[in-house]
Amino acid sequence: MAKINPDFKDELKKYGAFDFNACYNCGHCTAVCSLSTPEDSFPREMVRLSVLGLDENIQTSLKPWLCYYCGECSETCPRQAFPGELMMTLRRWLTAKYDWTGLSGLLYKSLSLSILFFVLLIAGVYYFAVSEQFNVEKIMHIGHYFEMFAIIGVFSIIILPNIIRMWYFTIVKSGYKIKFNTYIKKFGELIVHMFTQKRALGCDDNQIRWFEHLILVIGYLALLFTTVVLDWFGTDNDFIIVLGYVESALIFIVTFIFIFERSKKTTELSSHSHPSDWFFVIWLFLMGLSAFFVRIFIDTGLIHQNLWMYLFHLTVLVQWALIIVPFGKWTHFLYRSFAMYFDALKKTK
Ligand code: SF4
Ligand code: SF4
Repeated sequence: MAKINPDFKDELKKYGAFDFNACYNCGHCTAVCSLSTPEDSFPREMVRLSVLGLDENIQTSLKPWLCYYCGECSETCPRQAFPGELMMTLRRWLTAKYDWTGLSGLLYKSLSLSILFFVLLIAGVYYFAVSEQFNVEKIMHIGHYFEMFAIIGVFSIIILPNIIRMWYFTIVKSGYKIKFNTYIKKFGELIVHMFTQKRALGCDDNQIRWFEHLILVIGYLALLFTTVVLDWFGTDNDFIIVLGYVESALIFIVTFIFIFERSKKTTELSSHSHPSDWFFVIWLFLMGLSAFFVRIFIDTGLIHQNLWMYLFHLTVLVQWALIIVPFGKWTHFLYRSFAMYFDALKKTK
């Protein structure tokens, strides 16, 4: 028998949910949602499970990830229960449930703790610069290695175990027995959704928003490759240098548009930003912009007089790699792609 968690509603509010208790179960939200189908019906079902405190049913469900947050259901809800916001909140809550370290939940629930972590990392980068006596070459050399080790470390210690936990909750615990060759056959779903997020095209409002996200994902992955593998800050190759400029400019221009739109609060989905939403877009913007200026200082021979710019970039990078990627909103991109993959696996049954 399903267990009821009487504290679940209060718990969800800490992750950003509004008054979903106001829901009177009319089903209007599900009717207007262009992504909801008879087999995968939401968001009403998720609202009901949340109101009833059936958190285990939500933990084993992929439905919160099937929503692409267009906000249409919240706009049309006659009770202002904000079902679209609840779906976003459930994604944050699930992220915390998948995270074996428990840090994700703590950071989502406490802004002051998040700020403390950010400040500690600023102090860490400053201490590192002092210990290297502000030697530009050494600091940039170690900074480059940090990128590589951060990617390998964060992926293998945090992200991979968390994806395995997600798989356990949503496939194994849900009672699905999937054959090994089905995992192989359906693997293409994961790759396609990861790089295109094509399901978002199903949202009525979404063609431009989807395109902006696509540019951002491609720009971000390409810049990661250019800085880490092609050593953008260390290379003399003109093609790689120009490539890095284009990629970093793409990132800070697109994220600037996101920040601008979010701050105007003209649409439903920009009206209720959680601190983690802001951290994600602002840090991505700062990363693209600071990388762009670091390379300009290198190309103009002014980097020795402007080490502060590289230290600023490194600080943003360290905070991004150690807070936002493993424990913040960045993981949504990954979990959503895996949710599409797991959903395709479930549908083979
Ligand atoms: S969330 Fe709003 S639209 Fe959806 S079932 Fe409840 S009251 Fe109706
Ligand atoms: S936010 Fe959009 S995609 Fe998500 S449940 Fe509401 S209508 Fe559907």
